[in-house]
Amino acid sequence: MSLIDTFGRKINYLRLSITDRCNLRCSYCMPSDGVAKQTHSDILRFEELYRIAKVATELGIEKIRITGGEPLVRKGVIDFLTRLSELPKLKELVLTTNGILLSEMAENLHAAGVKRLNVSLDTFDGEIFTRITRRGKLSEVLNGIQAARDIGLAVKINTVVMRGVNDGEILDFIAKTMEPSVSVRFIEYMPVIKEAGWQSLVMTGQEILEQICQTHQIETVDSGRRCGPAKMYRVKGAGGTFGLITPLSGHFCAQCNRIRISADGHASSCLFSDDRINLRPALSHEADSFLMDELRQMIGTKPAQHHLSTTHAPHVPFSMSNIGG
Ligand code: SAM
Ligand code: SF4
Repeated sequence: MSLIDTFGRKINYLRLSITDRCNLRCSYCMPSDGVAKQTHSDILRFEELYRIAKVATELGIEKIRITGGEPLVRKGVIDFLTRLSELPKLKELVLTTNGILLSEMAENLHAAGVKRLNVSLDTFDGEIFTRITRRGKLSEVLNGIQAARDIGLAVKINTVVMRGVNDGEILDFIAKTMEPSVSVRFIEYMPVIKEAGWQSLVMTGQEILEQICQTHQIETVDSGRRCGPAKMYRVKGAGGTFGLITPLSGHFCAQCNRIRISADGHASSCLFSDDRINLRPALSHEADSFLMDELRQMIGTKPAQHHLSTTHAPHVPFSMSNIGG
């Protein structure tokens, strides 16, 4: 079965947030005092999240990314992942993490059937790390990445580039891609919490690319359909690749294949859309057909594109830690 939206896009990728809690407070994601925590009863039980995932794969979802908040802080996550990885129609189970708990969990994640991780890392400088994340230690993330690689998990590094904060390290991240199997994806800063003067932080994908091209020769890489919105490149002779994700300067909406479900059970068809469907009423029915109808209806409302740009923030600030990025 395939899920095709009103604009002919095949929807086969679900980002499933399993918690709004996080052990960091990244400046671009949350205010310094955090966001209002949802209560235990607001968050879907693993049984409910599993049922949503199962129904979604029966409708045509092939790839699920587990996200949060920080997914590794939720108790029971390994058992949940093990069950998900056994879904017969699921082709890819991946996870996005800040890496803080990775060194102690990498082995279990691998055993649970996760093949690939995205680890968010914006800097190799301990002081800048603390400035961005407001807590946590850089060494924990670096050790986590190493532990994941050692156990055989493929790791992609996600780096949000902010002018005047970490743009001086773009070439340090590029240097990492000289090693085989290292992939870095540079993400344009998105004004989700509308910090004052946020426009000055935005560094576009084009500017990032120009900086890299001043010192390196690069070639494009065919990223394949399920690789998502990143435009992929490689420095000539490098073993690994790098990508640019440009939600502000270059919409990839025409190729968007994703839907999102937040930890409190709201489904949305676009990161920047206010239209969300509460799946709880459908979950209260024993028959899966109610859930299927809701998911189909939500996909039917997927907009052609969002209206964010390098100068226009969303009109209502929203919580990235709730929706999962
Ligand atoms: N806690 C996990 C982590 O940080 O990887 C998963 C959730 S986090 C919300 C998912 C992704 O969203 C991370 O890669 C993070 O860097 C990215 N993100 C959060 N806020 C962002 C923003 N304002 N602009 C661009 N990316 C952002
Ligand atoms: Fe937590 Fe991830 Fe948001 Fe950072 S980006 S505060 S690690 S949810």
